[in-house]
Amino acid sequence: MLSIFYVNYFFLCYTIANRLNDYVLNCIFIITIMIYLKNPKERNIHFTSYKLEPGANMILTDYHVHTKFSGDSNAKFDDIISSAVSLGLKEICITDHQDYDFYADGVLFELNADEYFNTLCEISKQYASVLTIKKGIETGLEPVHAMKLHQLITSYPFDFVIGSSHLINGYDPYYPAYFEGKTDEQAFTEYFESIITNLEHCNDFDVYGHIDYVVRYCPNKNKNYSYEKFHGILDTILAKLIDMGKGIEINTSGYRSGLNAPNPCPEIVKRYRELGGEIITIGSDAHSAKDIGYRFSDAENILKACGFRYYTKFENRKPVFIKI
Ligand SMILES: [Zn+2]
Ligand SMILES: [Zn+2]
Repeated sequence: MLSIFYVNYFFLCYTIANRLNDYVLNCIFIITIMIYLKNPKERNIHFTSYKLEPGANMILTDYHVHTKFSGDSNAKFDDIISSAVSLGLKEICITDHQDYDFYADGVLFELNADEYFNTLCEISKQYASVLTIKKGIETGLEPVHAMKLHQLITSYPFDFVIGSSHLINGYDPYYPAYFEGKTDEQAFTEYFESIITNLEHCNDFDVYGHIDYVVRYCPNKNKNYSYEKFHGILDTILAKLIDMGKGIEINTSGYRSGLNAPNPCPEIVKRYRELGGEIITIGSDAHSAKDIGYRFSDAENILKACGFRYYTKFENRKPVFIKI
């Protein structure tokens, strides 16, 4: 669909060209339309260019799942898979953590990439008859590690990569130290600014993870937070993601963290759609089997209310759209 801006622009060009009966202006008008029609960046995704699948009145894929390969999870593959199958899911994507130079509470957030990837290949074959298991990863984005992340992501044929902000100037908002000496507004702004910096340096990901993760761990939770309060910087992030051809996720772990909302909040999901974004995965961010598919019916309601017709899964880093 043409945006209001372009409709007005074309109409203005057409009016001027006709009034002046100017051959050159008429040509400029026609060329402008041709350039516009050839430039898909200015418009929503052409769904005809992508693989589409029918839906089933429920979200069928969990695209943010941690296992024992993550420093902060002990979840066994068997338990994760049983849980997904019992919920009627058709597909999960394992997305274990890779954060460079991050050691906290005796936990190192670095993967043995060879062992991890080979295990995902084995598991996906072993359980192929009951559940599709995609090979993913959740990387902690930081400009200083952009080159290492690029090497890692291009060394293995992952299906899907989440890029997340976990460390901001050396601090993870998961720990109270991040919030010390800051107002909530300062803490949130610093986090969102770090996303913009990451986007200027990192491109090796498919969706940005839990965009307002910082709110989850704020001592005041989302008492001093709303999309409206931070709309300028959030719009900049969303527009940049859309321009880069990247998606976002609805991460339902926010519901488990006392927010009564997913990450990001529904207003950000709505704004991403309004700005032309179409690529959106649904993930529980489960670190144990019991949290697989957590509150996916709420995520589905949010998607519908925000105007999405499809949610997304990935194959070989390419989006596949599933009808809601
Ligand atoms: Zn994360
Ligand atoms: Zn995660």
